[in-house]
Amino acid sequence: MNHTQDADVIIVGAGIAGSGLACALARYNLRILLLEKRRRLGSIHRGDSLVPKNTALLAKWGILEAFIQAGAEPITHMELHHHRHGRIYRAPLLAGSSPYLVLPHAKIEKTLLEQALATGKVNLVQPAKALNLIHRDQLAIGGIRYQDEQGTHEVYAPIVVGADGHKSIIREQIGVEVDAYHYDHAYFGLEAQRPTHYENAMRVQLHPEGGVLLMPRPDRVGVGMLVAANSSNYWLKLPDAELTQILVSRAPILEGMPLYREGSHVYSLVRSHAKRYWLEGAVIIGDAAHTTNPTAGQGMAMALSDAGALAEQIGPVLAAGETTLTNALTQYGQQQWSVNQKLVRSSHRLALVYAKRGPFWHRLKTTGIKLLANPLAVSLTRPVIASFLESA
Ligand SMILES: Cc1cc2nc3c(=O)[nH]c(=O)nc-3n(C[C@H](O)[C@H](O)[C@H](O)COP(=O)(O)OP(=O)(O)OC[C@H]3O[C@@H](n4cnc5c(N)ncnc54)[C@H](O)[C@@H]3O)c2cc1C
Repeated sequence: MNHTQDADVIIVGAGIAGSGLACALARYNLRILLLEKRRRLGSIHRGDSLVPKNTALLAKWGILEAFIQAGAEPITHMELHHHRHGRIYRAPLLAGSSPYLVLPHAKIEKTLLEQALATGKVNLVQPAKALNLIHRDQLAIGGIRYQDEQGTHEVYAPIVVGADGHKSIIREQIGVEVDAYHYDHAYFGLEAQRPTHYENAMRVQLHPEGGVLLMPRPDRVGVGMLVAANSSNYWLKLPDAELTQILVSRAPILEGMPLYREGSHVYSLVRSHAKRYWLEGAVIIGDAAHTTNPTAGQGMAMALSDAGALAEQIGPVLAAGETTLTNALTQYGQQQWSVNQKLVRSSHRLALVYAKRGPFWHRLKTTGIKLLANPLAVSLTRPVIASFLESA
């Protein structure tokens, strides 16, 4: 049966990947239908970093300035600190022309969505929960069924994009398997008041019982403390005084700083990568396709890079009035899968080293880092840092 096309592209999920893709596709003058099940976007801590490869993409889409207007601040250095001996490593975070910016995750999501809507090409339906894909024929997918406050609807487009996060129903419905690795550690995310002498740097505090990552915000610092997996109840219920004591023992710079625990959360961490990304008529991007340990801060970067790469493949084809996307999706799948596989693997290795706990590993890590802290070693490790920040 032939159906009228309701849009050129249907995107499920208005997180970083979905809104990013909407921004990228709007440049091709396409009609985009964006479905988001949340009533409003969230306020939890899920990574604040817009690494240079992301800001380069945002600049390409003409929306970088909006993030600066929303309060994004540049950071220039990464520092590693020993909990007793102070700073043991400091390296620049950028060399090229694209800045490394930090902005709370919720504001990144909000700004991306606002920019997508400002193009006038994106029709957002919210709250609207995608239910299931509709098959055009036995092989290909032609649309999606979703539910909103008015009832259940069917919509049709040449392509449905699953940007619906790590529990993706689109991934499940196109029958894609993922290999999942569950880490023995988790991240406890919260905020603290920003110490007056805190520099605009990403700061990792090393400690035998688990490090603490600090990210600057205008008057606060984002705190990500490494804790054991399945310890959520313990940390979320711990009284402020005890939590402060533990945090200060790991990150002495937080001495005397009030904690802000609204929106705090303990994140279970999973590494996964879909075996493939698409089936005729549907494709997955962002966390729907891969999740990484956040130690290397690559999840959002990969979500935006997927959005940019997919738009470059399908955008020109759809803009030319074609609806057969097999070649474009093949290209996208081949290129982006291997780019992502490298990042998933390298993030995994870095995370395993960072998460090693106990006095032996702590001594080994700090000794290794001290050896790397001379100017020659900093310049030699520069390409490794750049691979996380700058390569596409
Ligand atoms: C603790 C933590 C720290 C992190 N730190 C960093 C970091 O420093 N740097 C970094 O780059 N990344 C980081 N990440 C990862 C990053 O947050 C994610 O990789 C990224 O946000 C994924 O975006 P996404 O749009 O693919 O998925 P999501 O953000 O999960 O968005 C999916 C969207 O789809 C919607 N949706 C789901 N199902 C449906 C449906 N059926 N119908 C309609 N809508 C639906 C959801 O409501 C949601 O809005 C971190 C993650 C965690 C957990």
